[in-house]
Amino acid sequence: MTETLHERVGEQSARTPDALAVAMEGETVTYQLLETESNRLARCLRDVGCERGDRVCLFLPKSPAAIVAMLGVLKAGCAYVPVDLDSPGARLAKIVPRADPRVVLVAQAATPQLEELRTAGGLDSDVLVGSSSAKNGTGHAFGADDLAGFSPEPIDSGVGGDDAAHILFTSGSTGEPKGVVITHANVLAFLGWAIPYFEIGQEDRLSGHPPLHFDLSTFDIYGALTSGAQLHLVPPALNLPPKGIARFIERHELTQWFSVPSVLTYMAKFDAVPEGGFPSLRRVLSCGDVLPSPVLGHWAARLPHVRFTNLYGPTEATIASSFHAIETFSPTETNAIPIGRACDREELLVLDEALEPAGAGVAGDLYIAGAGLSPGYWRDEEKTRAAFLPDPRPDRPAGRLYRTGDRARMDETGVVHFLGRADSQVKSRGYRIELGEVERAVTALPELREAAVVGVESEFEGTSLCCAFAAAETEGVSTQRLKQALRATLPQYMVPSRWLALPVLPKNANGKIDRSEIRRLFAPEPAESTRQ
Ligand code: AMP
Repeated sequence: MTETLHERVGEQSARTPDALAVAMEGETVTYQLLETESNRLARCLRDVGCERGDRVCLFLPKSPAAIVAMLGVLKAGCAYVPVDLDSPGARLAKIVPRADPRVVLVAQAATPQLEELRTAGGLDSDVLVGSSSAKNGTGHAFGADDLAGFSPEPIDSGVGGDDAAHILFTSGSTGEPKGVVITHANVLAFLGWAIPYFEIGQEDRLSGHPPLHFDLSTFDIYGALTSGAQLHLVPPALNLPPKGIARFIERHELTQWFSVPSVLTYMAKFDAVPEGGFPSLRRVLSCGDVLPSPVLGHWAARLPHVRFTNLYGPTEATIASSFHAIETFSPTETNAIPIGRACDREELLVLDEALEPAGAGVAGDLYIAGAGLSPGYWRDEEKTRAAFLPDPRPDRPAGRLYRTGDRARMDETGVVHFLGRADSQVKSRGYRIELGEVERAVTALPELREAAVVGVESEFEGTSLCCAFAAAETEGVSTQRLKQALRATLPQYMVPSRWLALPVLPKNANGKIDRSEIRRLFAPEPAESTRQ
């Protein structure tokens, strides 16, 4: 059995060379082209000095070309690091140098972000920058014309299943994003369960909705491309307008759609799910956050021909670790939707503080074991040790557990129910955010004497980021200006949407900021808050 993602895609390309592999806004790539162009890029990367295990940062907007680039990087024996192009230079400067790339691949459209990174001091002079055209003076080029001189024949990548395929940077509570290393074997373990389970085949047309730096996108990409299916990338401009997404599903006759609850919620609230619509759609997969029962009820009632699955899992355990198939669901059902049972080769454990099973029906901390577990955080032993523990069970001497930070309960039948977070990580519009990272940025603003950021349940976003602050000066602090200042260090989705000015922040008996009181002030929507 092939051990690497690119070889698996290569085998599929040999079976269906002329089939459409990836499409977005009129740009299409066949399986044959996917193969030959990524081979050329791999050779080009080798030519500029990339070696096995090197990292290649991708400053590439979502596009078929970005997918080709990912494969090219893997074929060169390297790991790709997809960069969030919505992040400001200051944040990219915390990610790119940490990834320590050999090469940065930049599309013309992303040169402003590269310049921001350079200005923020995040681009080492030893890093080779290759652009989709060498016109910007970088000297190295990997556009189609530039690669034409390289052979389209495969090269030996020299990597195996345990080599890193990509590193995905997520929010870190200390203010430093952390890189989750994902191996070829991690992704293939999930696909080994998911492809037969979801019956993905050559007739399928899958959506590519999440941004390429989200781990959910990994399933769309490799689920489609190792099965001969079509991957239809959703243009980022369609990320929000619900009716636009509905049109996309219709126009591209999607058969499977992998989404996040906030998008399903928007579409339900804005009445974008047509009664009996989307005739080609067979399955909707939801992952990444709590799927609200009324939202599922709405979708299930409108689309009786579609099967829904709630998937659960953190990036550290690769795409998803458990699933709950929804057989029937009434629109009036109010019970929370379980996160279900472990996918093949994965295990969900609900443990108490002594790492003993909490017992049926008892709340505990959720741990994951199995083939999806990342080797750890990139070059961060300490964080890796804190989150990935030796499996305490005597019959698993070499086993590891990932501490998810989620609270859960396993019922008598073995089905797991999600109970929330044990820490201050939240999900807002599908983005995983450590409130600590936001709070650090907010408290660094000179206009503020003190500030605290809390998450409050919201109808649309999952969790809204809410900031209570006391200004340094009594006069003249506008939240508009504070938000603008934050955009210099945080991506838009991390900038709090609700703000509350207080003379002084509430404290508890120990003199610490009383976050539950602040949450209370924000929820329900307080009249005195400035919502903008
Ligand atoms: P990420 O690493 O971005 O995939 O985020 C992982 C976290 O998202 C998990 O630890 C959970 O807190 C949350 N999450 C993922 N899937 C679900 C789900 N189906 N239901 C509830 N929370 C979820």
